[in-house]
Amino acid sequence: MAAPTMEPELAEAHMRGLLAGLGLDVEYVRGEGDTLYYRDRDGTETAVLDLVGGYGTLIFGHNHPDLVALARDLLAKRVPLHAQFSYHPYANELAAALNRVLHREFGIDEPYSAVFANSGAEGIETAMKHAELDRVIRVGELHAAVEADIAAARAAVADGTATVSAEARARLGVTDGVDFDAVVSEIARHNAEVLGRGPVFLTLEGSFHGKLAGSVQLTHNAGYRAPFRALAAQARFVPVDQPGALASVLAEERVALLAPVVVDGQVTLAERDFPAIGAFFVEPVQGEGGIHVLSPELAAEIRAAADSAGFPVVVDEVQSGMGRTGRFFSASGIGLLGDYFVLAKGLGGGIAKTAALLVRQSRYRSDFELVHSSTFAKDALSCHIGIKVVEMLEADDGAAYRLAVERGGRLRRELDAVAAEFPDVVAAVRGRGLMLGIEFHDLTGSTSEVLRDNARAGLIGYLVAGYLLREQSIRVFPTASAAHTLRVEPSLAISDEAIEQFGRALRALCAIIGKADGMALLPN
Ligand code: PMP
Repeated sequence: MAAPTMEPELAEAHMRGLLAGLGLDVEYVRGEGDTLYYRDRDGTETAVLDLVGGYGTLIFGHNHPDLVALARDLLAKRVPLHAQFSYHPYANELAAALNRVLHREFGIDEPYSAVFANSGAEGIETAMKHAELDRVIRVGELHAAVEADIAAARAAVADGTATVSAEARARLGVTDGVDFDAVVSEIARHNAEVLGRGPVFLTLEGSFHGKLAGSVQLTHNAGYRAPFRALAAQARFVPVDQPGALASVLAEERVALLAPVVVDGQVTLAERDFPAIGAFFVEPVQGEGGIHVLSPELAAEIRAAADSAGFPVVVDEVQSGMGRTGRFFSASGIGLLGDYFVLAKGLGGGIAKTAALLVRQSRYRSDFELVHSSTFAKDALSCHIGIKVVEMLEADDGAAYRLAVERGGRLRRELDAVAAEFPDVVAAVRGRGLMLGIEFHDLTGSTSEVLRDNARAGLIGYLVAGYLLREQSIRVFPTASAAHTLRVEPSLAISDEAIEQFGRALRALCAIIGKADGMALLPN
């Protein structure tokens, strides 16, 4: 076999080059808990403290022994992993386990149906599709009701019990004396324009919901989204810090079908609100946007808007869910009940790739099951591991959630202490539980060319990550859309020593940035 170095680089060579430039192109050969190991040139393993945690996937760390044992056992028993189009009791068991947690955390008893997927973005797109099926059905019902109104008005005009009102004629731009068909065709023209519209999805500025063709439209970062605008329905991004912004977006998006109704012998025009909004997608804690916890006030505003306009709220718990914030569903900490929830990342226990969309019974369209599927979704390995993950989180009356709060608190104190020591370097520390972010002040105007250029290129977080890896044996990355913010998402087992090691490394880093010594962050 050819030595790996002889092979041309064909698996994302460009990315490999970028990583190499910052000293980040390390091959890890073993992972355990919060530690990754790579091999030195002389073949010895070097340990790295991993605070990236599989981008939030590893709530139980790398290769948790109980999860590894379960996976081995399933394979040893030759459990069929892909038996599509058969009964999957384990999928039902996982759905039931998720329902029990959801009911407890939100104090409700409505069942949520589960549809499985393979990744976070796929789970989000499954939600988009379900919301669209629901919307299209509601549009169809509304259209049928308008057609019934037209038939009733036509009959009334035909038998001479009604005439078209002057206001209706003026609104439609038809003259007195034209026949009813001309009135109907003007109504139909208006309605056809409205009925031909696609859905508008709403989400918040700073949001990240994935990078597939549909989900990337919900991801605020224009760098990821803009080239692909033509591929799918567009989203509107609602500002987070502007009171009343949501109300004005809703007012702007409001459209109605026209329906002729007979009142006191007059055909007048009624407006029937059209379901223009597909859904509101929201992260209870924005991850890739820089670790921002949604305020309970905005959460309540979103919930109330959805209830009055009739669109579903899709709570994206892909990164914030699975216990990391001290609750299984972080939304329960801010009182935001979703009509849909999407889980992924941690649901696979760091071993399987899986996602689940949960839809409340009262909004669930069972026909969705006939039009949506994926070869790999709902496979036995993922479901069994998912069941075990939920069991581990729920064990001992929720000891894991208490641990997330306690460990998160310890980590937060360390980050706060660093921020207090380096107020000119650290702008903020944010987050909940074990989903924390540390933001640096903007360095685009730094006197150091290295810091300035990297900050302007949106690479400052990666420059810093390279330094921390090479010099401090710590793996940490910026959030995807907020390059000045490092995301810190270790496992529940993060030790005091690891937290102290991170604190020391951050202090060394802050001292370098404080001196504007950008050269010290570059690889030799
Ligand atoms: N939603 C959120 C909130 C996420 O953080 C992510 C991934 N960072 C996704 C969706 C997409 O998940 P995936 O990368 O598995 O497609």
